[in-house]
Amino acid sequence: MTNEKAYQGSCFCGAVRFTVRSEPAAMGYCHCESCRWWSASPVNAFTLWKPDALTITAGAHNIGTYNKTPHSNRKWCKTCGGHIFTEHPGLGLVDVYAAVIPDLPFKPGLHFNYQETKLPMKDGLPKFKDFPKEAGGSGALVAE
Ligand SMILES: [Zn+2]
Ligand SMILES: [Zn+2]
Repeated sequence: MTNEKAYQGSCFCGAVRFTVRSEPAAMGYCHCESCRWWSASPVNAFTLWKPDALTITAGAHNIGTYNKTPHSNRKWCKTCGGHIFTEHPGLGLVDVYAAVIPDLPFKPGLHFNYQETKLPMKDGLPKFKDFPKEAGGSGALVAE
């Protein structure tokens, strides 16, 4: 028995379903070009988890993978084309897109790659120029 929390999510059409357990390591927004380009949106709302927190509960065979670089295994649904999550093996974390986990209360805590922003957000949260030092970045903060 456990009090561990679990949140249900799915792709846009519902063919792929998953559960994430416990709590994310971090939640926030990424403004980098890769996130913007792949998501076709001005900013990416991310939730980062340890890989074993994520369990695919339906439609695993329906998940496509795209690698532009070895750092990001981008996962999407072969039926609806909706993006689901991206594995970051080097970081030991998986980014499950906040928009595909409606159950999870999204509480952003920081911004990544704010030097590249196309959508300035004056929310008072820390804005990393690139990434925190723990994630291999400069750790430098920039103004809103
Ligand atoms: Zn789908
Ligand atoms: Zn990004």
